[in-house]
Amino acid sequence: MSARQRSLDADMMRRLAGDPGEWLSCDDCFRLLDIYVDAAIRDETGPELTAMANHLATCQACREEAQTLVQLAAADSGVDERQAFVRLGIPAV
Ligand SMILES: [Zn+2]
Repeated sequence: MSARQRSLDADMMRRLAGDPGEWLSCDDCFRLLDIYVDAAIRDETGPELTAMANHLATCQACREEAQTLVQLAAADSGVDERQAFVRLGIPAV
């Protein structure tokens, strides 16, 4: 893995500087990830998705897990995975 492949853009900096109350641990993230991905696929947004986006913006392990789940869930549901990536605040793969 190369650290040069990703850089902090303005949107990511804004999320990093966001409300520290909107935060999940990796344990919470892994436990809730399929629920969040499912919500993102179904176009549901809320404070929980903000907290997930905050975590995924800074945690590569959970982000990669989320990307895999989004691809699987989107293919399963026949929806555009790019919208779910946007809602979760993670880059498409
Ligand atoms: Zn994590």
